[in-house]
Amino acid sequence: MEEAVLKIRHLKKYFPIRTGFFRKTTGYVKSVDDVSFDIGQNEIMGLVGESGCGKTTTGRTILRLMEKTEGEVLYNNKDIFSLGKNELRKLRPEIQMIFQDPYSSLNPRMTVGEIVGEALLDHNLCKKEEVNKRVEEMITACGLSSYHMRRFPHEFSGGQRQRIGIARSLILNPKFIVADEPVSALDVSVQAQVINLLVELQKKKGFACLFISHDLSVVQHICQKIGVMYLGSMVEMAGNEGLFKNPLHPYTKALLSAVPIPDPTLKRNRIILKGDIPSPANPPSGCKFHTRCNYATERCSKEVPEYREITKGHFVACHLC
Ligand code: SF4
Repeated sequence: MEEAVLKIRHLKKYFPIRTGFFRKTTGYVKSVDDVSFDIGQNEIMGLVGESGCGKTTTGRTILRLMEKTEGEVLYNNKDIFSLGKNELRKLRPEIQMIFQDPYSSLNPRMTVGEIVGEALLDHNLCKKEEVNKRVEEMITACGLSSYHMRRFPHEFSGGQRQRIGIARSLILNPKFIVADEPVSALDVSVQAQVINLLVELQKKKGFACLFISHDLSVVQHICQKIGVMYLGSMVEMAGNEGLFKNPLHPYTKALLSAVPIPDPTLKRNRIILKGDIPSPANPPSGCKFHTRCNYATERCSKEVPEYREITKGHFVACHLC
């Protein structure tokens, strides 16, 4: 097996809760709480879970868009958090992000040509006279036309704006991308086009990708490996087939039961979870999922289940497995 391009080891990201006149720290919101996984070269790994489970914070911390609390993020065996400002700047073109909201992530005062070409100039990756040619090639590869380079973001539809966002990330030839809910702000009719474009470009350019989504059918379509997060922790991780054919964790089973089947004659037994997702500032004791789990026992509220490998490449954190 090829060596992983990215290794996350016991990553934690806590946000302090400050109260009172002196802004004293009275607790922490544990957004990412001891998460570990690898992403191989050319691999697309999905990260799923409900809103507020820590997916986006995980993606942003990996790219060092925010500082970690603890743990390591090894990119080609080098800890991203050990890099100085200049070293990190040199690495930036190799590690990129595609944002969820294509509109707010594009500068409304710049033309598409300027937006997509800006990073090339910023990182001195090509001569000034070659920028237009490189931008034109990239936006054409992303399904836009060369005349779009002179237009501004507000002149485009949501799907086209996301294509611009993809072009801006990929023009730097990154080796690793975090795609944070890249299609959730788009109409269903254009989601498939953007997803297929991303998959096509990934095959052509061969980058590794962490694909963050709450849409399990999209993740099933494009990801080779999937991690399921709940309240900042990874509860299950497996290859595509392992997770969708043999989910082990009760939370994964509940999420999968909500995925619609594109066949009106088939019916899925929906598993309804009890209550709301608890606050990550005050997570339940033992297994964090025990307040909503249909199989919870007394042990579950007292003992944290070990996250362990059940079969090759299939990890789960549950006392029942
Ligand atoms: Fe449910 Fe207990 Fe397993 Fe947690 S450890 S998922 S509460 S059965």
